[in-house]
Amino acid sequence: MSPALEAVKALAAGFATTLKHLFRKPITEEYPEYKRPLPQRTRARIILTRDPDGGERCVACYLCSAVCPVSCISMQSTEREDGRRYAAWFRINFSRCIYCGLCEEACPTSAIQLTPEFETCERDILTLVYEKEDLLIDHGGKDKEYNFYKYAGVVTKEGVKGEHIKESKPVDVKSNLP
Ligand code: SF4
Ligand code: SF4
Repeated sequence: MSPALEAVKALAAGFATTLKHLFRKPITEEYPEYKRPLPQRTRARIILTRDPDGGERCVACYLCSAVCPVSCISMQSTEREDGRRYAAWFRINFSRCIYCGLCEEACPTSAIQLTPEFETCERDILTLVYEKEDLLIDHGGKDKEYNFYKYAGVVTKEGVKGEHIKESKPVDVKSNLP
């Protein structure tokens, strides 16, 4: 096909699209009366989830705060008597968050998750600082069955070394000696 013919064809295709839209019934979604259902992977308000036993998933490893490009996550780690780590306090400043989702990607326990809930605007900027009690919910979010301590190989009441799912028995180093 000659270049001139190709140009005419492309032009005709463009005009055809314009013409098609000219006669289409307009769709008006009147927010906030109508809220369009958003996909589950939409990146908005952040939550902290629990494992299927109801325990806090967050082990206060600081990975999310380290990866956050705007440094809006802070926490203090501590440990329970049975060896499980958790965050004594956990804070997200949503006035700085850019909802990039990197914290969720970095989290080894599936604790921190972004949700489709985007209506978090406030007049007073300080009310956008969420504490752990504002973030922690009662279920597992997108990953309901996952329980980090059943896989992690960390000694807790979930099991000792070698008892976790897909974990090999510990090697007796003395048996390797000549
Ligand atoms: S979504 Fe991005 S900016 Fe917001 S807390 Fe997570 S890593 Fe930080
Ligand atoms: S939310 Fe996840 S990445 Fe952040 S401290 Fe807790 S376990 Fe680590």
